[in-house]
Parts: sequence; structure tokens; C-alpha cells
Amino acid sequence: MRDTERDGEALRDDPVVRSKMANLHTEAEGGSRHGAQVRHRGGEGGERRQGRKDFQPPTVAASEYKLFATEYSVRLANASMDIAGPGTQMRVRTDDAPMEGRAESTYRYTVIDTIGGGASEIQRNIIARRGLGLPKNF
Ligand SMILES: Cc1cc2nc3c(=O)[nH]c(=O)nc-3n(C[C@H](O)[C@H](O)[C@H](O)COP(=O)(O)OP(=O)(O)OC[C@H]3O[C@@H](n4cnc5c(N)ncnc54)[C@H](O)[C@@H]3O)c2cc1C
Repeated sequence: MRDTERDGEALRDDPVVRSKMANLHTEAEGGSRHGAQVRHRGGEGGERRQGRKDFQPPTVAASEYKLFATEYSVRLANASMDIAGPGTQMRVRTDDAPMEGRAESTYRYTVIDTIGGGASEIQRNIIARRGLGLPKNF
């Protein structure tokens, strides 16, 4: 985005592109902090407490993070394709593709992360029932 021009205009000057990038960057920052917190509560910090009876694995926070991170990856991949344009459909490691084709593989592979390890709908159910105390709906 820093170096690419479209129709003689730098992409970095396009307000729509800038807005999209700012939103994605903000989401990435928030997600990164949430991920660190979940790791601390469940892993690094949790290990010291796991022998204790009152230790509660952070299942709701883990589901929130899994849901957010994988759905975010899809949004990021979609934005890469939108911003970089038609050349992004070229396969990964294609020298003259934008970002050497990384957008294309990311676009395909991020979808499966919303399924593996428990689909997004399952994560939402965990958050709704365990986190928000909502009733079973199935
Ligand atoms: C890339 C990848 C890697 C994987 N790696 C492993 C691995 O290493 N080890 C392993 O054990 N498994 C692995 N899996 C399997 C994975 O854990 C399951 O695919 C995943 O948990 C979803 O289960 P399912 O395929 O049975 O889908 P289903 O549970 O049958 O879901 C099908 C659809 O129905 C929806 N759905 C299901 N139940 C509900 C519900 N109660 N409420 C609302 N919606 C619902 C789902 O969201 C989904 O859209 C992998 C899957 C993928 C895609």
C-alpha cells in the first residue's frame, strides 16, 4: 500500500483504503492484546494455578479470541484482495503478483480456520451460554 499506485494515484492517499487499513490495524491491536491475556490466564499464568481447586480455565475468553482472530483473518484476507486488486488472484510465490501472491493463499486458507478447532457458531454458543448466561437454543 505504501508503494503502489492505481490510476496514477498512490493507494496510501485513497481515503477508502486508509480507512480500511486503520480499522484493520486497530482490530489487530485489540486482538493481539486479547490473545496475550488469554495465553496468560490459561497458560503462562494459569499453569501456576492449575493445581488449585479454584482454577477456572478461561474457556469463554478463549472462545472469544478464537472467534475474533479467525473471523478477523478472513476480513483481513478479503481486504487484501480488495485493496491490491485483480492481480491478487495469482498463486502464492508468483513474482509479479502483488505481495508475491500471498493474498491469494491467505484468502483460501483463512476460511478453514473459522471451522477447525470448533466452528464460529460453536464459539458463539459457548460465549452466549457460559459467558452471557443465555439459555440453550438447540
Ligand atoms: C483445517 C482443519 C484442520 C483440522 N484439524 C483437526 C485436528 O488436527 N484434529 C481434530 O481432531 N480435528 C481437526 N479438524 C476437525 C475440526 O475440529 C472440525 O471440523 C470442527 O470442529 C467442526 O466440526 P465438524 O466438521 O463436525 O462440523 P459440524 O459440527 O458438523 O458443523 C457443521 C456446521 O454446522 C454448524 N453447527 C454445528 N453445531 C452447531 C450448533 N450446536 N449450533 C450452531 N451451529 C452449529 C457449524 O458451525 C458448521 O457451520 C480440522 C478441521 C479443519 C477444517
